[in-house]
Amino acid sequence: MIHKVEGIVIRTIDYGESNKILTIFSRELGKIGVMSRGAKKPKNRLSAASQLFIYGTFVYQQSQGLGTLNQADIVDSFREVRSDLFRASYATYIVELTDKLTEERSRNPYLFELLYQTLYYLNEGIDSDVLLRIYEVKMLAVAGIKPELDQCVSCSSTELPVAFSIRHAGFLCHRCLHRDEKAFKLSAHSARLLRLFFYIDLHRLGQISLKKETKQELKEVLAAYYDEYSGLRLKSKRFLEQMERMGDL
Ligand SMILES: [Zn+2]
Repeated sequence: MIHKVEGIVIRTIDYGESNKILTIFSRELGKIGVMSRGAKKPKNRLSAASQLFIYGTFVYQQSQGLGTLNQADIVDSFREVRSDLFRASYATYIVELTDKLTEERSRNPYLFELLYQTLYYLNEGIDSDVLLRIYEVKMLAVAGIKPELDQCVSCSSTELPVAFSIRHAGFLCHRCLHRDEKAFKLSAHSARLLRLFFYIDLHRLGQISLKKETKQELKEVLAAYYDEYSGLRLKSKRFLEQMERMGDL
C-alpha cells in the first residue's frame, strides 16, 4: 500500500552500507519509520530529504514491517538551524524529546504543528531558551505527566503561587509552602510564565525576552520535573548543557 504523508524527520539511523532508517513525525499518522534506500550516497535522489529536521512530503510503500521510501520532496530544510551548532543542538533536543515521548502511529496533528512551529522559530532566530521551555511544558501533557498549573496542588487556591513542588507535581500557594520543604521558590513572573507556556498558541508568540535569572529558574524547575517523572536520560540534553557551559565562558 502507498502512503503519502507530510512530516518532519526526527531521527535517522544508518543501516548497512548505503541505507538509512528514518523516523518521521507526520501530520497524518504521527510517528512512523521508513527505510530510505541508498540515502547515504550523496547522489541518491532521496539523500537530501533523508536528513534530520527535514520537513517534507514523503511517499512510501508498506505492506508489513518497515515501510520503504519511494519519493521525498523538501518543503523546508531549516537551513539556519542546520548551519549553526547552537541552534542545531537545541533542535536535536527537541526532536529527541518528541521521539522519546511519543508512540508509533499515534496521530497528533497538534503536536506536529507545535514541532513545526518550534523549528520554524528556531530557524528565524527567536530566543531558543524560551522555545525550549515552551516545548518542554507542552510535551508534559503529551507524555501524560502534566503538573497542576491552574491552582495550588494542595488547597486548590487560585491565587498566585509562590513555589513549584516536584513531589506534589504542581504549584503551591504561600499557605501550603510548608508541605514541601524542597519546593522550588518561584517569582510571580516565573509562575505566570510556566502557566502561560502551557496554554499559549505558539503561532501567537511575539517577541519575548526574559531575564537570565527567570530563564534559569524555569529551566531548573522543568529539568527537575522531567528527571522525576519522565524517566528520560537524553544524550542531546547532556550535549546541550555542555554547549551552554561553553557559551557562558
Ligand atoms: Zn495552597
